[in-house]
Amino acid sequence: MTETSRQTRSICPYCGVGCGVLIESRGNQITGVKGDPEHPANYGRLCTKGATLHLTASAEVTAQARLLQPMLRSQRDAPAQAVTWETALAHASSRFADIIARHGPDAVGFYVSGQLLTEDYYVFNKLARGLVGTNNIDSNSRLCMSSAVAGYKHSLGVDAPSPCYEDIDHAQCIFIAGSNTAYAHPVLFRRIEAARAPRPGASASEGRPTLIVVDPRKTDTAQVADLHLQIEPGTDVALFNGMLHLMLREQWVNPVYIAAHTQGIEALQALVQDYAPERVAALCGVSQADLLQAARCFAQSKATLSLYCQGLNQSSHGTANNTALINLHLACGHIGRPGAGPLSLTGQGNAMGGREVGAMANLLSAHRDLANPQHRAEVAALWGLDAMGRALSERPGKTAVEMFQAAADGEIKALWIACTNPAQSMPDQNTVRRALQRAEFVVLQEAFATTATAAFADLLLPATTWGEKDGTVTNSERRISRVRAAIGAPARRVTTGRSWWTLPTDCNR
Ligand code: SF4
Repeated sequence: MTETSRQTRSICPYCGVGCGVLIESRGNQITGVKGDPEHPANYGRLCTKGATLHLTASAEVTAQARLLQPMLRSQRDAPAQAVTWETALAHASSRFADIIARHGPDAVGFYVSGQLLTEDYYVFNKLARGLVGTNNIDSNSRLCMSSAVAGYKHSLGVDAPSPCYEDIDHAQCIFIAGSNTAYAHPVLFRRIEAARAPRPGASASEGRPTLIVVDPRKTDTAQVADLHLQIEPGTDVALFNGMLHLMLREQWVNPVYIAAHTQGIEALQALVQDYAPERVAALCGVSQADLLQAARCFAQSKATLSLYCQGLNQSSHGTANNTALINLHLACGHIGRPGAGPLSLTGQGNAMGGREVGAMANLLSAHRDLANPQHRAEVAALWGLDAMGRALSERPGKTAVEMFQAAADGEIKALWIACTNPAQSMPDQNTVRRALQRAEFVVLQEAFATTATAAFADLLLPATTWGEKDGTVTNSERRISRVRAAIGAPARRVTTGRSWWTLPTDCNR
């Protein structure tokens, strides 16, 4: 009997644009992917990555690369042997319990991922903080988005970007800093191109937003800009402070907005006094005329929207980069109105979801802060810890890099890694690999058996991936979208006659 095809509405997992997809499947095989015309992040568009997503779920890839059942090593350099889920979970529990009993809960660390669903993050948090009693849980989003989080909190008091994608259609000035949007967030860039397309009956520039791009490189994005500020690497703060210097000098700022909604303008004014145009032009390697044009356009447009990404975030002064840019929005009142505001673009598909439910060592679920005793008490009450006479630990958790350093130093003895590949993607590979070797027990929860980190794991737990999972993700504009499973977990559908591919039905989701 021919199996009928199905269509399942879900989300592309690759990047923070968060495009809606329609997954086509037949029986237990994904056969294609189309853009969802009704999803407001993309209205049916997909980039090449999204449009070829189904190829990652082909039968050949599944057979060759998927991890399909738990695998255990008797010792680190021994080949991993297939075990049942019961054996795997019992082994993990007893090793963790033993290490916690001997060294305390902070001898355990959880390293999770911006590719997890929000519900996954939440449960990991509850496991680490609520059950184990450690705040050593951090996401690989730490390496890309933590500067954006700190910049928003520092400036606005909350990690909550105010603009949304629709603001692109209402902006008069689009200011892109440290982001090759055309390459890294292509579907969003199509939207910028559409907003800048000539209007019927209008001249080429009439009514379209001005595009300013700040980037040391001549990227695809920079090449279509009205103004490309090709600054020297690492001079973003000087550029933004120089623009504010000019805005204040030319009285292009918004004093009504500043008086009503901000504090500390005097201190900021004093700070940017040092950023005269001659000095900034020399520091940044741009002309004074371009600096003036950028400041005027940013300040005097009816609405200015900033889009920024890793060029600002992945820096030794990433928080300062973010803060200096947000200061421009606050000084000009370009925030909280259609077409205006600072919108950080998230790299991974659900980096924003993690920020909402405490996937970083210093955060708790629902935008609560670990350092705030009232917030800790709220979360502890929600999780029923009070009733057990327990509280959330107030000891600060280790961030991603600190966690691997602590494992390399022998302080952290057990690592649980989910949906990320630190043996390839973390900086300072010597330390990371020393950490993975030195840890007494490493658990890797992964969809693929072939990642570099798999070679270091004592226990490998097979995970489901896109197209097989149910839950939610949050994109850069903070839109929460539903992720739906089109097919079952691979172990339920692969029939090869190899007994070690037979899994219990409920454990690997
Ligand atoms: S822009 Fe991002 S979310 Fe959209 S299809 Fe491409 S990779 Fe997927």
